[in-house]
Amino acid sequence: VNVDVKLGVNKFFVDEGEAHIELIDNPDEKEFKKLELACPAGLYKKDESGNIHFDYAGCLECGTCRILCKDTILKKWEYPNGTFGVEYRLG
Ligand code: SF4
Repeated sequence: VNVDVKLGVNKFFVDEGEAHIELIDNPDEKEFKKLELACPAGLYKKDESGNIHFDYAGCLECGTCRILCKDTILKKWEYPNGTFGVEYRLG
């Protein structure tokens, strides 16, 4: 079983009212590239026009982006409120 299949069985309880991770405007390209490569859920993306996309809804709460870019790109990184966030299946 590959990683995508395993990740696909997780459930996400998304807090639509509050993003638990927020980015600064116009982040540095090199820094953003780090996140594109490192986020295991692939939530940091750039489209063909160079526009940045980030969707906190599929976050695995691993903290990788926080370690890499807390002081450069992320203006907020918190665990989701209360009962929101990822529910891991398969351990
Ligand atoms: Fe991606 Fe992990 Fe950061 Fe969530 S905490 S956005 S899964 S790198």
